Amino acid sequence: MAEGQTKILNNWNGEMTEMSSFLPAVAEELLRDVKKAYQETSQIPDDLLLALKFVFGPSALQALDLVDQRSVTCLSSPSGRTVFQVVGGSGRLYACYTSCHYCPCPAFAFSVLRKNDSLLCKHILAAYLCQAMGLSQQEAVTNQQMSDILSGKAGRGT
Ligand SMILES: [Zn+2]
Repeated sequence: MAEGQTKILNNWNGEMTEMSSFLPAVAEELLRDVKKAYQETSQIPDDLLLALKFVFGPSALQALDLVDQRSVTCLSSPSGRTVFQVVGGSGRLYACYTSCHYCPCPAFAFSVLRKNDSLLCKHILAAYLCQAMGLSQQEAVTNQQMSDILSGKAGRGT
């Protein structure tokens, strides 16, 4: 499994130039609307909630739950890498790469990569939403910690 993940990452990193956007325009626009509405009113209006559900399916509500529970942390290292760490429902930590649209969770592997019937898993969507709403917690990590996280070695910290 680790091998497959590395392969995907390598492929995607190799295609950096073409992946300015993995999301359809409608999804990007929706996230922009969420951002704007949240900045103005500190909440997401019902029509945008419905749109989120329509575009992202059931993961939309699960992602909003993750946002509510402050499950998303933006980790950054001195080397300039950033990664979103999302605590999943089971308490497992997932390192999500919004820049290359990848999450190591089973739902991402199955629904997004294999079946192609979801745009995102709830973890990546939660990271996008947190970014849009300005709610992600920031945490600085060392380069070593970052490489442990990226290689999946990091357990739960302190
Ligand atoms: Zn995921």
